[in-house]
Amino acid sequence: MFILEEKHLEAAKQIALKHRHKKSCDRCYDRGWIGVSDQNLLILCPKCVDRDAALEEWKAYVNEHEELKEHFSELFEEKPVEEEGKEKTLPHEQKKLHPNPMKQTFVPGQKRTGLKKV
Ligand SMILES: [Zn+2]
Repeated sequence: MFILEEKHLEAAKQIALKHRHKKSCDRCYDRGWIGVSDQNLLILCPKCVDRDAALEEWKAYVNEHEELKEHFSELFEEKPVEEEGKEKTLPHEQKKLHPNPMKQTFVPGQKRTGLKKV
């Protein structure tokens, strides 16, 4: 299972803190987060943290760390629906740009020329 490294968790905490929009909060004790998931991911405070803004920054952070990209790849694929008006990409147009190479059926045993190695 994926477990977020401690150093990245620390970074996430900083991001959470940065995007708090209330001065004091009894839910998270002004930390901006209320707990950590079993993947060591930060659970943002729903009361005082601007989750969208925090997520945007987290995405930027992930983008800089190859080892995180794989796990958080879904962050980059689907846009949260709640965001209104911000950077409107054409969802279906975009999908056409990614033809899935895995879909090509590979048939083993096809005759290959020049690969005989016996
Ligand atoms: Zn809070």
